[in-house]
Amino acid sequence: MPNDAPSKPKPRKKRAPRTFGPEKAHALYAALAKDRPEPRTELNFTSPYTLVVAVALSAQATDVGVNKATAKLFSVADTPEKMLALGEEGVAGYIRTIGLWRNKAKNVIALSQMLLDEFGGVVPETRDELERLPGVGRKTANVVLNEAFGVPTIAVDTHVFRVANRTGLAPGKTPEQVEAGLERATPVEYKQGAHHWLILHGRYVCKAQTPECWHCAIADLCRHKPKTPDPATVSRLGPRR
Ligand code: SF4
Repeated sequence: MPNDAPSKPKPRKKRAPRTFGPEKAHALYAALAKDRPEPRTELNFTSPYTLVVAVALSAQATDVGVNKATAKLFSVADTPEKMLALGEEGVAGYIRTIGLWRNKAKNVIALSQMLLDEFGGVVPETRDELERLPGVGRKTANVVLNEAFGVPTIAVDTHVFRVANRTGLAPGKTPEQVEAGLERATPVEYKQGAHHWLILHGRYVCKAQTPECWHCAIADLCRHKPKTPDPATVSRLGPRR
């Protein structure tokens, strides 16, 4: 018997809904940029080398904690040569207050050695070369390229990841997906500062535990629900019955 029944249509791949068009993305960055027209990293550094070290130390640590440690470390060792002279134990002595300090001390010495052996003691300006340095991954390379060399990269840390997902600006399951989404969604004039604006927003307003939606500059653009109400209003009205 001929089978002339229409073949079943193939199921379409589900696409993530695109919630941010160019105009909305522009409005979001404009609102974030209003208070901080020229955002910078909160890590202290004096050269591309001290920036690489500071960013490598900042994994799973706060910028305030890293700055405290590097204030003393960089006063005695702000070049690869001086860092090597200090040695792994010496470096460890300055960074013991930072998480994962043992491994980080090892990496700081190893990356300083590689800079001297292969790059003439100068921090390279390409992603591939930066990522060869021990302890330097994609995120660190992006921060260094952006902050030290003016390349409009968008580094995705925990804050950027959260804000991109909650707002709907660039949803993704991995930092790589979010980075690619941000590259697509971010208007060119905001690319240089995007990483800083999103980090600072995540650190001070769109916090991990409780986003402070009641004073958020981009609340009207953000898809996250429910928005956190102003605690002052909540306590005045009392708990809902
Ligand atoms: S409205 Fe709330 S969830 Fe959305 S970005 Fe602002 S603080 Fe974050």
